[in-house]
Amino acid sequence: MARLVMKFGGTSVANIERIRNVARHVKREIEAGNQVAVVVSAMAGKTNELVAWCRETSSLYDSREYDAIVASGEQVTSGLLAIALQEMGVPARSWQGWQLPIATDEAHGSARILSVNGDEIVKGFARGEVAVIAGFQGIHEATGRIATLGRGGSDTSAVAVAAGIKADRCDIYTDVDGVYTTDPRIVPKARRLDKIAFEEMLEMASLGAKVLQVRSVEMAMVHKVRTFVRSSFTDPDAPELKTAGDPPGTLICDEEEIVESEVVTGIAFARDEAQVSIRHVPDKPGIAANVFVPLADANINVDMIVQNISAEGFTDITFTVPSTDFERAKAALAGVREEIGYGSVEGATDVVKISIIGIGMRSHAGVAARAFKALSERGINIRAISTSEIKISVLIDAAYTELAVRTLHSVYGLDA
Ligand code: ASP
Ligand code: MG
Repeated sequence: MARLVMKFGGTSVANIERIRNVARHVKREIEAGNQVAVVVSAMAGKTNELVAWCRETSSLYDSREYDAIVASGEQVTSGLLAIALQEMGVPARSWQGWQLPIATDEAHGSARILSVNGDEIVKGFARGEVAVIAGFQGIHEATGRIATLGRGGSDTSAVAVAAGIKADRCDIYTDVDGVYTTDPRIVPKARRLDKIAFEEMLEMASLGAKVLQVRSVEMAMVHKVRTFVRSSFTDPDAPELKTAGDPPGTLICDEEEIVESEVVTGIAFARDEAQVSIRHVPDKPGIAANVFVPLADANINVDMIVQNISAEGFTDITFTVPSTDFERAKAALAGVREEIGYGSVEGATDVVKISIIGIGMRSHAGVAARAFKALSERGINIRAISTSEIKISVLIDAAYTELAVRTLHSVYGLDA
């Protein structure tokens, strides 16, 4: 017997027929003798609709009311799934975030989970009951108001519930059958990974892979929640799923659990970055602070940073920001132009950040050199580079995205 959290995203609960399909997946696990808590998203497209209604009513809406509105999508699916399970003879009840409770901070619209009280869920297990929990929502207890976790947040709900009830595994059922070495729409030779380490998955998710909300991976890493990404579109009654063989999917786990690992695990890319270059900046102490403090004050996330050692007392500084913050970043810099005394600010939004990720890099030399050589042989110019222990990122012209991703994918032996 295992204790499981099963999470189903919007496309997996898009209509009543799909919800019945989900109920069959749950029933299969119950019949195998497992205890199950299910976390559901809103029906596909529902949250977008709710957000749009909110904005249509007022562009300056109260974020607490926004949360009251957008959290309703998950309330509906939790109730519907509980009914579908009951119909199949599986005892089940729905739980809203506030009923457990799932406690969050006060950052309405992108709240963080502070704690999950799993007592009621576990009591339900003793009665043979499936808990169907509305994802994406919790309660800010001091004010008693509903809070939502940011788009894609039900992944985080699922992992937090798994940690809260000490589940053996958190199964994320989604519209893809796992985590791939890169986006299969760009590289048809991309392979599904059997396993990936928490740290690698965190990089993949932060750097553009859209499978899981970044916060859910952080949470899984901190609480060591083994998280299995698998497809909800398989037939729940397929014989291979009943024989407890390994269904297709990707296990996100501790690196200790991964015996054979390649040097590079995957290639991620993010098109939503913009490059900002400040030319002719006086090179003296305090300049980096003068440049980056105003950006931090404006709540702009700076990523790659490149600065030269100056020859004649002046240098150039290049960095990237999310493209949605591009204009704000330029405005913040214009505000400190006199203070800093720089020449000009230039920028580009038609850029892409490509990242090579793998814990194997820690113990292998020459990983970056191979990437630079391969890109140069294809005539691809690198605008900026940044590295960490387990990743190398390069910023290049967006027009070369596919060529670069394909090239790197094969250079590191990831092609199927
Ligand atoms: N329904 C929410 C959204 O669309 C949360 C989720 O699906 O994870 O963002
Ligand atoms: Mg999602």
